[in-house]
Amino acid sequence: MKHNFGAGPCILPKEVFQEAAQAVIDFNNTGLSILEISHRSKDFEAVISETERLVRELLNVPQGYSILFLQGGASTQFAMVPLNLLPEGGKAAYFDTGVWATKAAKEAKKIGQVEVVASSSDRNYTYIPKNITVPSDAAYFHYTTNNTIYGTEVFDIPQSAVPVVADMSSDILSREINVADYGLIYAGAQKNMGPAGVTLVIVKDELLGKTGRTLPSIFDYDSHIKGGSMYNTPPVYSIYVSMLNLRWLKAKGGISVIEQENIVKARTLYDEIDRNSLFKGTAEVEDRSRMNVTFVMNNPELEGAFLDLAKERGHIGLKGHRSVGGFRASIYNALSISSVNALVDTMQEFEEKYK
Ligand SMILES: *Cc1c(COP(=O)(O)O)cnc(C)c1O
Repeated sequence: MKHNFGAGPCILPKEVFQEAAQAVIDFNNTGLSILEISHRSKDFEAVISETERLVRELLNVPQGYSILFLQGGASTQFAMVPLNLLPEGGKAAYFDTGVWATKAAKEAKKIGQVEVVASSSDRNYTYIPKNITVPSDAAYFHYTTNNTIYGTEVFDIPQSAVPVVADMSSDILSREINVADYGLIYAGAQKNMGPAGVTLVIVKDELLGKTGRTLPSIFDYDSHIKGGSMYNTPPVYSIYVSMLNLRWLKAKGGISVIEQENIVKARTLYDEIDRNSLFKGTAEVEDRSRMNVTFVMNNPELEGAFLDLAKERGHIGLKGHRSVGGFRASIYNALSISSVNALVDTMQEFEEKYK
């Protein structure tokens, strides 16, 4: 039995893998593989519209927002956001809470003026700065809701008089949000929504078309909106598997139900980290992520031995990101509480041996 704590691409429910595998052989009893059907076929139109409906329903997306399924990952959004929302001569505000946030700001700087409103780089991004001030003359304010590498999460949306843009790659669909609080949300699917290859964008239509910039069509949200995410060939299979995962989430009871499970999983693991004499958390307690749990050992020399034992017990993907070290247990939606309990058991077994 494997317990996949990898940070992304992520674990998905077993029944999603099974149905996705079946569709590669025979999709909907068509006698064709999902991999060979036309994206203009009725069968795929049904898939993409159901995927969009499920996103709208699960996240309670209000009127006036378009939903897009794009390629190029969250990293492409680092450029598309300023290209589409930052007017010529204008400026954008960015919140620097980690590597992904820094990368987003760096790309925006190539397109216009960027003001970094606050940064936690002084303590290697182990906390979320509070009471920040967003300049009212910015075109938008960008932040990363969950810092995948450092294990910090922003639970309260920062005060901002200007439209808020959020990179939700690693906590989308993990907890309830109010979409109306945002001008634009984007998320690479492969952390919590589906497989790699598709990126979700939810954008408030009224924000578009105001930059005075002429864009290549492929980088223009408007072409994708007009084309119903089929301006060009969409990532058919990634959208299909995301749809299966969204169906799974809906059948479970939706986001309010998964959020409660995520709270219990995170609490279980942090409680053990705080109790166990060998381990300690790296993120500020109040900013601890419910998706990526980062921790180290009081004696770093034991880290190799713990990884060996974890491997023996079937725990995959626990090694921390190189910029933090130690361990990172990613406990996304599809990771069950039994996998968290298995990790806790392994930590206790290790403590017995080495304390
Ligand atoms: C993984 C990650 C990204 C990068 O996503 P790609 O799809 O690989 O471009 C961006 N932001 C966050 C918060 C991430 O976790």
